[in-house]
Amino acid sequence: MSAVDAVLSDLEADLSWERALYEDLHRHPELSLNENRTAGIVEDQLTKFGYDVQRVGGTGVVGVLENGSGPTVLARADMDALPVKEATGLPYSSTARATDSDGRTVPVAHACGHDMHVTTLLGAAKKMADGKGSWSGTYVALFQPGEELGTGAKAMIEDGLVRKIPKPDVALAQHVMPGPAGRIGLRRREPREPLLHVRRQDLQRADIELARDVLDLRGFNSERGHVP
Ligand SMILES: [Zn+2]
Repeated sequence: MSAVDAVLSDLEADLSWERALYEDLHRHPELSLNENRTAGIVEDQLTKFGYDVQRVGGTGVVGVLENGSGPTVLARADMDALPVKEATGLPYSSTARATDSDGRTVPVAHACGHDMHVTTLLGAAKKMADGKGSWSGTYVALFQPGEELGTGAKAMIEDGLVRKIPKPDVALAQHVMPGPAGRIGLRRREPREPLLHVRRQDLQRADIELARDVLDLRGFNSERGHVP
């Protein structure tokens, strides 16, 4: 069994707690830079998994798992929700309201999927902790606040993020997108290049981007001789 297979061998089994966590986060969305409840849950979970946990930049949270010599890999998830009214009818729909920075009372919903990002990164963080015998290096799970405003990452950097965590050799970010289940697009980017972020009005463009990314994924795999 390869190291990857060993770490991922019981992936399905974790859906029990991940689903409950996702629905809880979905029910309790928080506006940008007000992710206090979400950050508290993230801190508790990472601490339980055995990570060295820090608050960085207000509601930002970083967990570091040192596991011997090897590369440092950082994975990032954003945590904030949007001032949008949910109309999905789901049993775990958000009915939350909050006061925005202009003092207006607004509905709040995880309309951009950051609740899924938090859930999947916590799921990955647990996998890495449970599978420590199968890999070596350092894994950094970074939970970024205020992505929708573009100010959360800046707050983390201004709070000394670079000094507070090991320098990553690789940084990974993710975003859910509308499309067929099970489709994954990958894109490699150089440091300092901004991450793609797709908003609702850009969905048509997103389809084009996604198609291109899927093609890139096929090329990426065939370059290395793997079959997707
Ligand atoms: Zn988003």
